[in-house]
Amino acid sequence: MSEKPEILRPSDAGIAQAARLLAAGELVAMPTETVYGLAGDARSGEAVARIFAAKGRPAHNPLIVHLAAIEGARALADLPEPAEALAGAFWPGPLTLVAPLRAGHGVAPAVTAGLPTVALRLPAHPVARALLTAFGGPVAAPSANPSGRISPTTPAHVLAGLGDRVAAVLDGGACAVGLESSIVGFDAGRAVLLREGGVSREALEAVMGGALSQDASGKVTAPGQLASHYAPRAALRLGVLAPAPGEVWIGFGPECEGAELTLSATGDLNEAAARLFAVLHEADHLGRPIAVAPVPVAGLGAAINDRLRRAAAPRG
Ligand code: AMP
Ligand code: MG
Repeated sequence: MSEKPEILRPSDAGIAQAARLLAAGELVAMPTETVYGLAGDARSGEAVARIFAAKGRPAHNPLIVHLAAIEGARALADLPEPAEALAGAFWPGPLTLVAPLRAGHGVAPAVTAGLPTVALRLPAHPVARALLTAFGGPVAAPSANPSGRISPTTPAHVLAGLGDRVAAVLDGGACAVGLESSIVGFDAGRAVLLREGGVSREALEAVMGGALSQDASGKVTAPGQLASHYAPRAALRLGVLAPAPGEVWIGFGPECEGAELTLSATGDLNEAAARLFAVLHEADHLGRPIAVAPVPVAGLGAAINDRLRRAAAPRG
């Protein structure tokens, strides 16, 4: 595909057209509360192959399957007890659960990169929910950006990164959470935090009634687990309170008053999460080295620091 994508309003007609495109095996950029997703029919091997090709995503990195309702998730996977508890507390919302596939699930093998488990999420964004309901099936959707680059939180980010590779962009405005979902898997019935994200560890632990184990295997085949990811073109350094001449300084909190850009002038972590990728895109456009102020690690700060570390990592 090389023509310009259709920009669809989030009206009944726009959502119906996006659902028709998905049913025809095309890719649609879908707004969610985390980031924009590059959506395709999870049951279609061809649509899924298009997702991997459009992003330049390595085939060993599995995709998250998005659903309108928990019944859809239960039809695809056996949700263990703690998964049901977490789903009850956080779905729809920015939490992905990884559970064993059920027989007859119908999901294209490429979605799970051949794994016996599948990653599932019910997004909360009303436009995503409306599209998933209109489509009526499971939708595979990684972030709608070229693999390894900054995630998109506006239609403009999608157009800049993948504009010639999607049939349509469904415009749902700017993403409210702004960070990818937290990912939780299960090991012998115990919840394991596989990726920090839009639901804080503290909130997850409050529902689980105790500490979550960290992924111990160290072998999660996840782009979000790769050292370099979310990378701007220019070099990026962290924990900077005194930027060098020529650097774009991204501040956090009132002590960074003179900063050229800020994640949150008041030091609000939710605002910083929502603005993180947009600010990184903006800094990237300026084409100068980037220096980011320290961000505390509590709450969503853990996921913000995780994304910043990967953005700063040496590129592979
Ligand atoms: P993204 O779509 O870029 O947010 O990334 C999806 C992430 O979900 C992957 O990078 C993995 O970390 C995780 N994931 C998806 N499926 C599985 C699975 N079956 N087992 C473990 N992690 C998974
Ligand atoms: Mg991504």
